Amino acid sequence: MTFHVDVITLFPALFPGPLDASLVGEALRRDIWSLQVHDLRDFGLGRHRAVDDTPAGGGPGMVLRADVVAAALDKCLGPALTGSTRLLMSPRGIPLTQRRVRQLAEGPGVAILCGRFEGIDERVIHGRNLEEVSIGDYVLSGGEIAAFAIVDACVRLLPGVIGTAASIVEESFEAGLLEYPHYTRPRLWEGIAIPEVLLSGDHAKVAAWRRAQALKLTQERRPDLIASRKVQRE
Ligand code: SAH
Repeated sequence: MTFHVDVITLFPALFPGPLDASLVGEALRRDIWSLQVHDLRDFGLGRHRAVDDTPAGGGPGMVLRADVVAAALDKCLGPALTGSTRLLMSPRGIPLTQRRVRQLAEGPGVAILCGRFEGIDERVIHGRNLEEVSIGDYVLSGGEIAAFAIVDACVRLLPGVIGTAASIVEESFEAGLLEYPHYTRPRLWEGIAIPEVLLSGDHAKVAAWRRAQALKLTQERRPDLIASRKVQRE
């Protein structure tokens, strides 16, 4: 079954953008996933197709209107998309994790609303049951780049997108650890040799070394991951 992605944005020309390249782009052309981009402007009001208005209570910036956003969601997602998770890109959202990406990738698809300006009228977030998702603790100028990140992360997990399933299983976060370091030819580069064990041909030794490296790196860089996951003591 094709994984379906709907995106609602004020900048439809940005899509598929980076999602058209490499493995993810190939998967799009092979119908492993499909993309439908909807222009929020089409649902704007009046001669100027206004989508935003000034914030109630005053303050800087503009806020996307609830009625405009709801009209877009209702029309674009309609009955065809029951089952798709409705995501609102938002720095206030729950930070995205590989675990959530995996859950999303196992479902029928996602519908993504990209915010702009100051944000979105709170009422439509609840009224249309949008799940707020953040891609990190920093502020982007719009939700489109966050949407690229989420779709890319989901699509690469779909069956048939990446050659070997093993290369997904071994990656950062999948085992609750950061990935071990990689090396390739040349054997000696700028006076630095590839670690001997990797050239030994002893698969058990290589696996043990990688596991130890992954643990060490995670301990140094992301002790929170060690604390939050039950990684077996070695
Ligand atoms: N005033 C808001 C920021 C608005 S940024 C606040 O302080 O929370 C404009 C839009 O960019 C947001 O509506 C959202 O869709 C997107 N965006 C910004 N940062 C993001 C992040 N870290 N993750 C996901 N989306 C983000």
